[in-house]
Amino acid sequence: MFQELRNMRYRLTLYYTLVLVLFTSLFTSFVFYNIFYANGFILDRELKATSAQVSNLSILPELSNRPPDSGKKNLSNNGEIIDSLFKIILRDENMNITQASIQYKALLQNSQDLARQSWLNQQERWDTINLGETEYRIFSTPFHSNGDNGVVQTCCNLTMIHKFISNFNYLLLAISVIAIVLAALIGWCLAGRAMMPVKFAWQRQKEFIADVSHELRTPLTVIQSNLDVVIADHYGSIKDNITWLQNAYNETENMGKLINDLLLLARIDAHEIQLDFNEFDLSSMITELAFQFSPLFQGKNLKFSSNIESEVKMYGDAMRIKQLVNIFLENAYKYTPDGGFIHLKVSKLQNGIEILVRDSGIGIEETETENIFRRFYRVDRARSRKQGGTGLGLSIAAWIVEVHKGYIRVDSKPEEGSTFKVFFQNNEATQ
Ligand code: ADP
Repeated sequence: MFQELRNMRYRLTLYYTLVLVLFTSLFTSFVFYNIFYANGFILDRELKATSAQVSNLSILPELSNRPPDSGKKNLSNNGEIIDSLFKIILRDENMNITQASIQYKALLQNSQDLARQSWLNQQERWDTINLGETEYRIFSTPFHSNGDNGVVQTCCNLTMIHKFISNFNYLLLAISVIAIVLAALIGWCLAGRAMMPVKFAWQRQKEFIADVSHELRTPLTVIQSNLDVVIADHYGSIKDNITWLQNAYNETENMGKLINDLLLLARIDAHEIQLDFNEFDLSSMITELAFQFSPLFQGKNLKFSSNIESEVKMYGDAMRIKQLVNIFLENAYKYTPDGGFIHLKVSKLQNGIEILVRDSGIGIEETETENIFRRFYRVDRARSRKQGGTGLGLSIAAWIVEVHKGYIRVDSKPEEGSTFKVFFQNNEATQ
């Protein structure tokens, strides 16, 4: 099972990571596409804007035959900076260069044909040309200004831009890889946390099965050993062996009770219990129950008193509430030594109903009061078994209180006694 849980954890981590990989890929592709697209778009616009600026100028002395990267700023006559990223070529009607901010021959030659096309068609155009390892983007447009006609070309070396994009790409890739590794680690931790309840439930199930087998084995062993004695006594009568037979019979009763409780808990866990919620007369139901318990208490010489307020109506499952009080009264009976007292009280309070069972029994240590509601938990296992206890009564009681949206309080002191108090707040029938 541990291996299965571990595999499940691996699988969950893988799913988390795959989802993130998918998400990161989509995100990086989106970012990359947008940057690439935006770059091209902005570049083309800038090329056009620069050429528009240039073709509006009558004299461009700064452009004239100045070698590129001279360190000087290219200033237009209205003082604006022409970014040196963009190179400018001015051509006359015969496509001869009149002015240029670049002296790269190959570029000047290769751009001539493009300029001609633009002049012939009287149309602007964008081209990308490869010169060796360098790529250039060129914008060519015809101009007619102050009697001068020709073509203005603005071009840009794409190497830097490509480098920027590829660096950005590497950065995105590195961030994605780190994010995926981190996600896998976080996913592993999260999967571990998500599986805690499964692990816990599985552990509880394992303990439960171990407890059930133990609880069933004990009475079986007792039955078997008592019947062994009877079988070995070949000539004895039933009367001679009545003690052993009685022991065996008592154990079958205990087993029957245990199996009933177990079946009920199994049905509770499977949410198979149909509750029958109705308004019912709690007072008369508890009075009747108290009446049924009286002879039992008397048999053990226990002083029993009750204070059941009349006409207390409750909204709930009457049979389950009866079972609840039954569990408390049975426990009070089991854990109160002869001569002690048991008190039962039902009262209608301003904001709900309270049921109280007090005894002067063996009591419970404060540290144990939480544990006693756990399945099979018994403060003194041998004592509980001797009394016919299954260790399941209070866990069933806790469930009944829970489905009625109430809560239980236990006040107990060893050797002094215990009080089990149940409170059903704002129970519908009380309003
Ligand atoms: P059991 O069948 O053993 O009584 P329960 O679930 O009803 O199982 O109770 C769990 C344990 O709580 C008991 O074994 C006992 O140790 C303790 N307990 C319950 N009620 C009382 C009580 N009235 N006085 C003392 N101990 C009690």
